[in-house]
Order: sequence, then structure tokens, then C-alpha cells
Amino acid sequence: MKNPNRTSGGGASRLNLFQIPVRRPYHGSCHCGFIKYIVQLTFPPNLDPRTSSIRMYKCNCSTCVKMGILHLRPINPASDFVLLSPTDPVTELGDYRCFAKKTDWYFCKNCGVRCFAFGGSVETVEIDLDKWLRGVEMDTQGQENKTKVFKPKAGEWKIISEAGKEEVRPSVYLSINAVTLEPDQEGLSLKEWTEKGWIAYVDARNRTGQPRLGEPHEGGVY
Ligand SMILES: [Zn+2]
Repeated sequence: MKNPNRTSGGGASRLNLFQIPVRRPYHGSCHCGFIKYIVQLTFPPNLDPRTSSIRMYKCNCSTCVKMGILHLRPINPASDFVLLSPTDPVTELGDYRCFAKKTDWYFCKNCGVRCFAFGGSVETVEIDLDKWLRGVEMDTQGQENKTKVFKPKAGEWKIISEAGKEEVRPSVYLSINAVTLEPDQEGLSLKEWTEKGWIAYVDARNRTGQPRLGEPHEGGVY
């Protein structure tokens, strides 16, 4: 028997992630589950480098190559990322620093997985997680349902000079290792990202080349 309430085109209004930019939360973790985080990502990325956009890339520096990092950079680290567990990574996670020693390459002491790297100021705050998950701007004042999270610190900016232009950007660095996002979340498809040209190869080793597609720079991995 047909359902009289059913209207035609049941799936027609389904959100198409790859046509309309949509910001939505994605969950990630290390292999054993001790590290748990959520990151707000806006798909599709805007490939114009002058715009604010999520960025996905592979870097050819020796650190990223050896660690096997697939970088995923949220638009605004301070408002787009929360670490739910552990809430004190400084004492509860392993840390590795190299070169200029400005970046913390945290890893799980139990399973060894690296989910993210931080640089710059960080903070532990209490937020209304449900509101934040629904897209309400992160607010640390006066909520009823508080969850303690660790995150890059808000309100820290720096001026970048590039190609003769000055630009204000967040001074905190946050890169997610995209392979630690939980599989089967809508929009997470390495096949699709690759075919659409969203994963660039960047050259940090010589700092000569622009991000490019097709072939890694010297020493990089495909
Ligand atoms: Zn782990």
C-alpha cells in the first residue's frame, strides 16, 4: 500500500556538499580512542589562495614525510576546533618538536597516532558543545551545559607579508592529520578530494614552488 503522505522526489532536496559551501562538524580520533576531537570544516574548499578556505595538502618536509601527515587546515583554528580528550595534552600526550621548535607534534602515548599539530597560544575553556555543534558561534560565557575543551586561543592575529601584500591571519597554527577523521562521514572521500584537485603538494623543503597538483615536490610522497 502506498503511503498517501509521501511526496515525490524523496531524495531531491538532499544537501549536495560539493555545490553549496557547508560548514559542519567532523569527528576524529587516534586509533585507541584516547584522543578525541571535533573540527568544523567547510566543503567544498575554495581553491583561490587569496580566500579563506580549508586547505588540504601534503608537505615534502622531512617531518611530514616521516610522520605521514595529510594536512587539513581549518579556516579559523580558534573557532573551528575542539579537543575533547585529553583536555590537557601538554601532560597527557607525547610531544615532539624539531627545527624551529615552534610546533607541537602531539601523539597518543598509547597507540602512537598523531591527530594534529599545534603552534602558538592554546587554552582550556568550557563551552556549550551542543550549541557549537549546531553552528552557533563559540561562546565561553554563561552557558548551562558546559564541556571542558582544549583549543587554539582566540583573538591572536599576526600580519603576514606575502608578495608585497600584507594580510592579517590567525597567529595560531593548527593542522589536522586528515587520516584520523572517522571514516564514513559525509564529504570525507580521499578519492573525491584527489579527483577534484583539492589535495595540493606543497614545497616546504626548498620554499620555491607554489602548491601544485599531479606530482610531489622533491622528497615528497604521493
Ligand atoms: Zn591512541
